[in-house]
Amino acid sequence: MICLGIESTAHTFGCGIIDGKGRIYANVTDAYKTEKGGIHPTEAKLHHEDVKDKIVEEALKVANLKLEDIDLVSFSQGPGLAPCLLVGLKKAKELSKKANVPLVGVNHCCAHLEIGKLMTKAIDPILLYPSGANTQVIAYDGGKYRVFGETLDQGVGNFIDAFARYIGLGFPGGPKIEKLALDGKNYIELPYVVKGMDVSFSGLLTNLKQKYDSKKYSVEDLAFSLQETVFAMLVEVSERAMAHTGKDELVLGGGVACNKRLQQMCRIMCEERNAKFFVPPNEVLVDNGIQIAWLGILQKKEATKDYDKIDIKPYERTDDAEVKWR
Ligand code: AMP
Ligand code: MG
Repeated sequence: MICLGIESTAHTFGCGIIDGKGRIYANVTDAYKTEKGGIHPTEAKLHHEDVKDKIVEEALKVANLKLEDIDLVSFSQGPGLAPCLLVGLKKAKELSKKANVPLVGVNHCCAHLEIGKLMTKAIDPILLYPSGANTQVIAYDGGKYRVFGETLDQGVGNFIDAFARYIGLGFPGGPKIEKLALDGKNYIELPYVVKGMDVSFSGLLTNLKQKYDSKKYSVEDLAFSLQETVFAMLVEVSERAMAHTGKDELVLGGGVACNKRLQQMCRIMCEERNAKFFVPPNEVLVDNGIQIAWLGILQKKEATKDYDKIDIKPYERTDDAEVKWR
């Protein structure tokens, strides 16, 4: 069985093609970018409308397949920006009708966990999912994917991007902050905001902006201290989730997980508690169509041609998604 998956929750429009054995045929994406950063939902939607046909054609070409070879179509149902999600739904419906195969909507966050499992062979992991809009610690427990900890305000990627934008680095800021941090020499004390199992970034952002404006600190030291503080917060919450659930595997997902220092800190934590640590390749850490196609395969029994029953779910939480595939 071959599934074609469409991703369009936020910046990225992606098309992935995978089969039931987890063999990847294609993973093509195009991201909406702005010079100064930030995301305007209507502009992102226009970007997706612009590239959607080209991306799907390109994916089929890379896969060396025709639309008739596809057995199933899946799309990201949420969480995400409604205007962007609608472009994905429309394209997915169109493909499903043309190929005369059923369609299934999937949860974007669960897809990060499932692709992480597929690509790393982790069995029952905790997922640390730090991305632009999302920051969650997720694991399967009692019939659902539960959120063990999450951000109380913005996603860690958006927070890093916002600070990067403030100091004139442009978008996306994550990789630029990572590079600057390598030259940081002094740790500057910053607010460390873990509340129970949750984290929060807005106070940290204000504090960092004030420190930058004071001109007392180098940008390298600020970038270094930002990473050390924020990643320690994420590692603490992940470790507590592992201890609480008794799970001994940690998998990363989400764009911020491309960061080598975050990976290193997670690896050290896992080594210290004799747990296994897995990092999937960057192309599935960032938003992509492959994870959507793979979860489509797992949820194939829920696929239908009854299109009136299928809609987007912009506010669907990880723990709202019904997990019938495990
Ligand atoms: P996503 O929303 O999962 O597609 O991820 C996008 C986010 O990942 C953006 O906020 C980027 O700044 C961030 N990001 C990408 N690469 C890195 C990196 N090396 N370090 C930190 N953040 C990163
Ligand atoms: Mg994502």
